Amino acid sequence: METIKLIQELSDAFGVSGFEDEVREVISGRIQPYVDELRTDVLGNLIATRKGKSDFKLMYDAHMDEIGLMVSYVDEKGFLRFTTLGGWDSRILPAQTATILTRKGKKIKGVIGTVPPHITKLEDRQKAIQIEELFIDVGASSKEEVEKMGVQIGDPAVPSYPFETLNSNVVMGKALDDRAGCAVLVKTLESLQGQTLDVTLICNFATGEEVGGRGARTAAYQIEPDLAIAFEGTIGADVPGIPPQRQPVRLGKGPAITVADRSLVVNRKLIIALEALAEKGKIPYQYKLPAFGGTDAGVIHTTRGGVLSGVVSVPCRYIHSPFSILRIDDFENTVKLAREIVLQCRTLLK
Ligand SMILES: [Zn+2]
Repeated sequence: METIKLIQELSDAFGVSGFEDEVREVISGRIQPYVDELRTDVLGNLIATRKGKSDFKLMYDAHMDEIGLMVSYVDEKGFLRFTTLGGWDSRILPAQTATILTRKGKKIKGVIGTVPPHITKLEDRQKAIQIEELFIDVGASSKEEVEKMGVQIGDPAVPSYPFETLNSNVVMGKALDDRAGCAVLVKTLESLQGQTLDVTLICNFATGEEVGGRGARTAAYQIEPDLAIAFEGTIGADVPGIPPQRQPVRLGKGPAITVADRSLVVNRKLIIALEALAEKGKIPYQYKLPAFGGTDAGVIHTTRGGVLSGVVSVPCRYIHSPFSILRIDDFENTVKLAREIVLQCRTLLK
């Protein structure tokens, strides 16, 4: 299917950590024709198996969840207070629109309210805003009205804007971390259709990465992989004001191979194999500079007796904000590398 359409559908889906149902539905619908087995486990991971000739198990992981908010209190005037799920910078939250998902599946729009500059003091304007000071305004004038709308404590929310295409090669969406990775897995499965595989490929679309790799931990335990690769949408920081040594990855330079991050030091043998694959397939690649961020591979590699694990990422600018952007050529090159890993990992790791 068309790549941009797939990324759009995935990025627009509501999938705050713990509430990944919509994303899971989109993915199951898409991959059904390409896999032999498809199941959802207790934590909500979607585990898809594409059988191969051997029982060597290659686990691919991409997380379905996105960082979000959760309604924590409704005041008498109908304003909602919230807590965060995942790593937000509170400075970017004011003045965003928010979408709340109610228990009945209704989506309620609101705005994260701000105090107009006319009535703020200069010294207050220079201070960073704390989450505790923020609130969502859904247009209600009382607690009762909020109740009638179906909004309750514990409902998830997310600042949300629709996906957009900036030009034929650059797209912008709210949840490219890590729907980009999910889309890589979908496209890889699609590209392997009809092909006899040497290894058994098990794709885990994980829940709860943004709150601590929760889904990946239990999925890896069940899968017992021989090799695992996490696919991420990661920190593209090639923007003004950031020195090159603090730019973990750059857009337009191809998939990023992680050497080490805060959750994992990748085995050199695996890095050499990934480089060889990219070079053989004439796929551009870059390194994700150590040691920023962490991924599901951080929990996967310490599962059971230990799992040889790596990370390959699609560079995305502005992750953990209401908008992130990626380049389609980087995405396509990541799919190419993901496909080569499936086809050649056993030979390369020998
Ligand atoms: Zn991520």
